Amino acid sequence: ASEKYRNFPMVPRVVFGSGSFDQLGDILLEKRKNSEAPVIFLVDDVFEGSELPTRIPQVFCDQIIFVSADEEPKTAQVDALVKMIRENYSEQPTGVIGIGGGTLLDLAKAVAILISNEGSAADYQGWDLVQRKSIYHVGIPTISGTGAEVSRTTVLLGPEKKLGINSDYTTFDQVILDPELTKGVSKEQWFYTGMDCFIHCIESLNGTYLNAFSQSYGEKALELCKEVFLNDLTEKESRDKLMMASWHGGMSIAYSQVGVAHAMSYGLGYQLGVKHGLGNCLVFQYLEEFYPEGVALFNKMKEKHQIELPKGVCKNLKEGELDAMITVAMGMEPLWENALGDHWRSIITPGKLRAIFKKI
Ligand code: NAD
Ligand code: ZN
Repeated sequence: ASEKYRNFPMVPRVVFGSGSFDQLGDILLEKRKNSEAPVIFLVDDVFEGSELPTRIPQVFCDQIIFVSADEEPKTAQVDALVKMIRENYSEQPTGVIGIGGGTLLDLAKAVAILISNEGSAADYQGWDLVQRKSIYHVGIPTISGTGAEVSRTTVLLGPEKKLGINSDYTTFDQVILDPELTKGVSKEQWFYTGMDCFIHCIESLNGTYLNAFSQSYGEKALELCKEVFLNDLTEKESRDKLMMASWHGGMSIAYSQVGVAHAMSYGLGYQLGVKHGLGNCLVFQYLEEFYPEGVALFNKMKEKHQIELPKGVCKNLKEGELDAMITVAMGMEPLWENALGDHWRSIITPGKLRAIFKKI
């Protein structure tokens, strides 16, 4: 019998270009059902009081909700947002629009799913547990790197685990890629989130799950990352290219998997609340054994942009906490299998992970 291949959804509509954010009004107009069915805009609160909210095409009973991205999204936060939206409106919303980084994009995806599905977001963490189609949702990234704008997952911290809602209904119905929206990002955050993309490429291209589909996107994304982080591009070129690198990096892992840095970064995130981009960088710098060329490139990029990573992050961890972190990391089986093959358990032991975490 022939192998069964997965049938992945892709973002069906995308706009790219400087200033394309201003087309959002026209795009939503076609979707609006009636004046009682609002559009809910979830916006990173870093934009509160800035020019961006004044450009949001808010009409009728639409609502703008500012959300902090200081912490990564939680299942309880999704539940609270959905409850509030249900209480405020008699009609189901026309759509949910996420404006921000991976945190806001993931929140918007999860809220769109939970508005049309019963129960708590935590009930759907896992693979293909979502029963009913989500409501219309649009992703508008304001920082580049995660690939959350193209992926079929939304990563949430739940009461028991940090895990994605992976489903065919998670993927956005529409994405607007306006590189100008990324203008205000700090250099450090630009680097951390940009390295998330770089690490997606390295982990995908060096993984055992690699295939021509993933490779074609991964190679393009890697080439763009090198241009952005090692060449001297104009700011506009750099913004444009990193936004497309993120897109291709996300596409590359759709049909493969991430690897060692992501598995360990999940541990850091779960135990210490270290955010995804920074966590990946903290781990990746010590992975020369697994990704020698990738780590050499990473160090060059880090030096060029004079990025100092925090030190001593795991220093004050108690033994039990370190063990919990190791358990979370080792639990990411598909990631290890992609990184090292079937026999990964003979390479990766708790002691090995402990030694790497201790360096961080
Ligand atoms: P983020 O969304 O947490 O944002 C990082 C910081 O940048 C925040 O302080 C935010 O306020 C700020 N910021 C964003 N845009 C800005 C702008 N234009 N100007 C000034 N500041 C701005 O970070 P991220 O790295 O984009 O996303 C991380 C999250 O993405 C994690 O929760 C992670 O789990 C998730 N993620 C999801 C996927 C997926 O496929 N769904 C993939 C990778 C990561
Ligand atoms: Zn990532």
